[in-house]
Amino acid sequence: MKDFDSKIVILGGGAAGFFSAIHNKKNNPNSTVVMIEKSGQVLSKVKISGGGRCNVTHACFEPKLLSENYPRGGRELLGPYHVFQSKDTIAWFEAHGVALKIESDNRVFPVSDQSQEIIDCLVRVATGLGIKIWTHAQVTDILKKDPNFCLSLADGQVLMCQKLVLATGSNPQGYVWAKQFGHTIEAPVPSLFTFRVDDPALHALSGLAVDFAQVWIAGEKKKGQKGPVLMTHWGMSGPGIIKLSAWNARSLFEAGYRTALYVNWLPHVDIDVLKERVAEFQGNHPKKGVGSQSPFFEIPTRLWAYLIEKTKVSAQTLWKQINSKQIDRLVQELSEGVFAIAGKGTFKEEFVTCGGVSLKEVNFKTMESKVCPGLYIIGELLDIDGVTGGFNFQNAWTTGFLSGSG
Ligand SMILES: Cc1cc2nc3c(=O)[nH]c(=O)nc-3n(C[C@H](O)[C@H](O)[C@H](O)COP(=O)(O)OP(=O)(O)OC[C@H]3O[C@@H](n4cnc5c(N)ncnc54)[C@H](O)[C@@H]3O)c2cc1C
Repeated sequence: MKDFDSKIVILGGGAAGFFSAIHNKKNNPNSTVVMIEKSGQVLSKVKISGGGRCNVTHACFEPKLLSENYPRGGRELLGPYHVFQSKDTIAWFEAHGVALKIESDNRVFPVSDQSQEIIDCLVRVATGLGIKIWTHAQVTDILKKDPNFCLSLADGQVLMCQKLVLATGSNPQGYVWAKQFGHTIEAPVPSLFTFRVDDPALHALSGLAVDFAQVWIAGEKKKGQKGPVLMTHWGMSGPGIIKLSAWNARSLFEAGYRTALYVNWLPHVDIDVLKERVAEFQGNHPKKGVGSQSPFFEIPTRLWAYLIEKTKVSAQTLWKQINSKQIDRLVQELSEGVFAIAGKGTFKEEFVTCGGVSLKEVNFKTMESKVCPGLYIIGELLDIDGVTGGFNFQNAWTTGFLSGSG
């Protein structure tokens, strides 16, 4: 088969790969840009993202604040976010015909609530620019023959390029190639997940939520994360828990997903005030069952009754029968309740990998490798991951954009 001479090759047809291809072509209109996708479908993660709606980015327009949403990579993304941030993502999609909306929690979605609209837009722009998109294409070998890269494909084709962009997401093959060109791979482990807690009484509360709790795990220096916590039929979920899983992805992995979870159900209430409010409620309701009504509007009564039973007091006990030691135990449960994490659950809305190409080895002005000139590394293949809310796609758009800006 005839060899195909090309200048820029993008490996991986995901969000980062598309943004890279588009900006490479825009800035190098005379170059041939080829995107190689091993599967039959480009942008397959965009398709399933955000429950099929694609949470494109997060409406946080201050680079410093934006970068603080990355357990890994925040420091490195600060500079890039001064060049291309969420505001630019929104402007780019709107300029290319996708109307976007900002929801109350600042997540950004297409007005149509259809991730397909994002896919159609990216494919339309890329093909309009003349980018060649090869699906079902399998690269079997890559050699560096300075200044070129020489790619062998499974169908026998050989492809030469001066610029090779690796955009293979968390696929293990991408790590193999990056390693081959001298890069260090921080071991990949899951991020953004829920916690399994083996307690049938907790499972029975599935669906109940507390809007503002504080959660942390054993050994954490800072006291974890704040946000909504949701009871599930396997344990705990909700934004507070998911954020906690991201910030502690590595230590949780090392602990085999078995460690103590601490919960403060009322983090905005000072402990002395908490004691006073419990004592006041006791004084006002001496003949009421202690589990019959939650003294705190933030805590649903069924959860309240569960927390009481967790302190080994029957929810039927009358308030007047509760002694000061039991009150202390209850206050302890409210402010620092301990749950045994017994495993990792799934989080279907979003899932990313912590780990990837070491960030020290990449120039964050251009995304070019510092150890292999001509090689560019972008998106989730890097040791970058954000919390939920559109931050992971923003990393893909920004690093893709930078890799094409030279
Ligand atoms: C269920 C789910 C929902 C999500 N929802 C959101 C969301 O709403 N908002 C958000 O910000 N983030 C979300 N994420 C995370 C987001 O999808 C990723 O961070 C993002 O897709 C990373 O983009 P990428 O281009 O780096 O990698 P990917 O999107 O993984 O793309 C990599 C591409 O490379 C291809 N590839 C891999 N190996 C090879 C190879 N050897 N040769 C050729 N091609 C190869 C893959 O097939 C794939 O098409 C979600 C993730 C999941 C799993």
